[in-house]
Amino acid sequence: MRPWDDKVFWLGDEAGGFSVRDIKVKIAANAYIEPEFVFDWNHLVPMKVSFVGWWVVLDRLPTLVALAKKNIPVCSNLCPICGEFEESVEHIFISCGLAQSLWCVISQWCKMPEFFLFNFWDLLEVHKDSRLSSSKANILQVVYLIATWCLCKKRNDLVQSRVPI
Ligand SMILES: [Zn+2]
Repeated sequence: MRPWDDKVFWLGDEAGGFSVRDIKVKIAANAYIEPEFVFDWNHLVPMKVSFVGWWVVLDRLPTLVALAKKNIPVCSNLCPICGEFEESVEHIFISCGLAQSLWCVISQWCKMPEFFLFNFWDLLEVHKDSRLSSSKANILQVVYLIATWCLCKKRNDLVQSRVPI
C-alpha cells in the first residue's frame, strides 16, 4: 500500500464496512440513559410545592453557594437560618439544625422510626422506603414535600429581608 492510498474505515463494524443500519443500531443502543433520579410528582400538592423538589433534583435551586458560583454577588453565603455554615441544598434541607428538628418532629408525628438523611434524594424517597400502604406513603410524601417548601419559603424570606451592604 502506497502512503497516498488513503482508505476510510468504519470502526463501528469489525469488517470495516459502513452501513446506515449500523449507525441506527448504535444510536438506539445509547439513546436512553437511565437517569440517576426521577422526581416523583404528587398530584395532591400544589405545583409550587413540587417545583422546589424538582428544582433541587435538576440542581436549579438558587442557593447562596450556587449564586456565588455563578458570580452573582451575595452579601454572605452563610445559611440565613443558622448563620453557621455555607448555604447549599444539603445544608438547607438536611444538615441545618432547623431541618433536622423538622424531620425529627415529622417522623414522630407520623409515628415512624427516626431516619437518617444523607442527601436530598434520601428525603425525596423517605415515603418509598417506609412500610406503609401506597395511600399512606402518598400522604407521607405530601407532608415531606410541603415541609420542604416551607423550609425553602422560610429561607427565601430571610434572604430577601437581608439588607445589602
Ligand atoms: Zn443552617
